[in-house]
Amino acid sequence: MIFAQASRLKTHLPTTTFPAVVSNYPATILAPLYQLEQSQWWSPQQILEKQFQQLGNVLSHAYNTIPFYKTRLENARIDPRQGITSEQWRKIPILVRRDFQGKEQQFLTSALPKGHGRVGEITTSGSTAEPIKIYTTELTQLFWNVFTLRDHYWHKRDFRKKLVSIRFFKGDQAQYPDGANMATWGNPVQLLHHTGPSCALDIKKTDVSDQLAWLSRQEPGYLLTYPSNALELAKLTLDRGLKFPSLQELRLIGEVVDQEVLDICAQAWNVPIVDVYSANEVGYIALQCPEHRNYHIQSENLYVEILHENGTPCAPGEVGKVVVSTLHNFAMPLIRYAIGDYAEVGEPCSCGRGLPVLDRILGRTRNMLVLPTGEKYWPILGLEELTKIAPIRQRQVVQRMLHDIEVRLTTERPLTRAEEDKLREMILSKLGYRFNLSFVYLDRIERSAGGKFEEFISKVTL
Ligand SMILES: [Zn+2]
Repeated sequence: MIFAQASRLKTHLPTTTFPAVVSNYPATILAPLYQLEQSQWWSPQQILEKQFQQLGNVLSHAYNTIPFYKTRLENARIDPRQGITSEQWRKIPILVRRDFQGKEQQFLTSALPKGHGRVGEITTSGSTAEPIKIYTTELTQLFWNVFTLRDHYWHKRDFRKKLVSIRFFKGDQAQYPDGANMATWGNPVQLLHHTGPSCALDIKKTDVSDQLAWLSRQEPGYLLTYPSNALELAKLTLDRGLKFPSLQELRLIGEVVDQEVLDICAQAWNVPIVDVYSANEVGYIALQCPEHRNYHIQSENLYVEILHENGTPCAPGEVGKVVVSTLHNFAMPLIRYAIGDYAEVGEPCSCGRGLPVLDRILGRTRNMLVLPTGEKYWPILGLEELTKIAPIRQRQVVQRMLHDIEVRLTTERPLTRAEEDKLREMILSKLGYRFNLSFVYLDRIERSAGGKFEEFISKVTL
């Protein structure tokens, strides 16, 4: 059982450089993979019991080796060495980014269990301005690989086809016009399977038209990119009447997927669209069900709670904040960490898997509009409708202050006064409030570090 054994799991890793280590040991991947094949069919109750067993291990470890958690648990009158109940669990305060930002080292364990391998470190470059550092282990890297494979198996990917990705890369690898070409899909797939080739293109300096030209040269079997980029590629594919007969599936990562993305991409390519929900800090949070559009929480990796503002759990159909606890990161356990996203709880899935269900991922707090009444929601500002009014290529809406909205546009030509007026009316009606609205024209709207494109950003904190 993964849950109970994780803290003792021996990975027998040699002392070579960190992420490559796991690649040498297909057997260390196969064992947990086999366990995941079983655990996905457990009942929700069985899964929860195993999670609480493992949470007990994580909490004891955190209590014993990280003073921050010792104090936090003592204040909540919890002694995890006695085990933990769900009532006690809910008394543990929620952890937020600013609790450890800039003081990450205080969250590093003073005694990592030996079988977890060596400590590595990642910096989340995500969409927020201030990065955070996360300590990982060879064991968490192993789990990353295992869940990557689960996603491939669930969606029955044909590894002989070509995998093509257009995303953010650090440094200057994968630049246009050639991108980077690899003989295989890389790790972890190549450890267990013969694979076809893969290729990658860095999104940060390549405009959509060049991306499409590059993609046309690739004969893609699978295309992996961000939803906002897929939308732009799909529209251009339709405009130019291009066909990609080799394409089997569109894989989306990194951003919230809305209906417009699904509709236009389906129209352009007519292939299944599969999303994943993951975060640098904690790994895979939820994978899309192989049979339905909903998402299964990866309960073997994390304990995920969806909570109302008052801390009570959401029922199916309700939206709440996503709070995660890592089950296997003993270097820097994150316990009841509010990752900044919101999600809607789903009913149990008819596919038979006991893994809990999310119906929708709704995105980040900073992508919520704040109304002067104090209400907050995620605005939907479909590009499609705006382009019916004026020749707009990109748009980004920023709430600069409580009453002030800035609409950033890139356009094919300068807009007329009449077009601006129509746009203003449409945007204000969608936002549901008479904000002061100004237009700013740019040559290009850049993605944030990490490659994400945010359609709406609020700088207002209430
Ligand atoms: Zn399912």
